[in-house]
Amino acid sequence: MLFPSFRWRIILIKLLCSILFCICGLGTLGTELEAYAQVGSSKVPSFREPLPEMHQRLKGKASSFANLSPAQCRRRLKAHREGPLIFERGKSVRGIATSYRLLGSRVAIDVRVPSKKSEIALKDCRFLLTWIELVPMLQKHNITAIRFDNFYRRGAKIRKGKKSQHSYGLAADIGMIQFGEQEVEIKDGFLGKIGSETCGPEAVLYQANHSELALSGAKKMRDFICDLARKGSFHHLLTPNYNAAHAEHLHFDIQRDNRWCFVK
Ligand SMILES: [Zn+2]
Repeated sequence: MLFPSFRWRIILIKLLCSILFCICGLGTLGTELEAYAQVGSSKVPSFREPLPEMHQRLKGKASSFANLSPAQCRRRLKAHREGPLIFERGKSVRGIATSYRLLGSRVAIDVRVPSKKSEIALKDCRFLLTWIELVPMLQKHNITAIRFDNFYRRGAKIRKGKKSQHSYGLAADIGMIQFGEQEVEIKDGFLGKIGSETCGPEAVLYQANHSELALSGAKKMRDFICDLARKGSFHHLLTPNYNAAHAEHLHFDIQRDNRWCFVK
């Protein structure tokens, strides 16, 4: 039959439209996947390398620091009195075992923290120790500034009956990280999408109309976050890929007696 009936023509048109839709859809995905190629190297960026198994990551410093007693932590901290970060004892508050305040740094990293007067500047000794021992890694990633928006949040809960690590001073929300001269705000520089992977072979930078500079900043950010996840530096690393509540900050925490960890 040379000239198909009207009904068959409609079916053929629908079929053609479906094929075109698939091609266009794959084209968009292709653009996203090409994002890495534009950040200066054809080799797979480190954030796309597979993460070690969880039981390996749980052997990292997050677990060893989170399980220190207050006395053990204070002893460890003494060795860092003249170390890279400047700190002092904080006031006692409900939830924090031994309270400290981070004040600044003695190295070329501009550590921005909430006002001294504010409770949200307080953190537990174990969380302070975590950051002190991370300084070499910050330097390895050429981090020159980091902005902590808060640490302790009195009585903070994840949901009813489940306390957030912020309520123990064992968590931080980070709004900006500067790599060399480049400031990357999490809000518009992370280049993520809710539900997508942050690290590993499936992780993608969503680049819609972003400059090469923005892509390069987002890649540095991911490489850093995934390095932390790989080494088990924190138990939970949450990014804008996790949910809308984290659209403007990164959440990193450690947890006593924790048997699992993730980056999302
Ligand atoms: Zn948080």
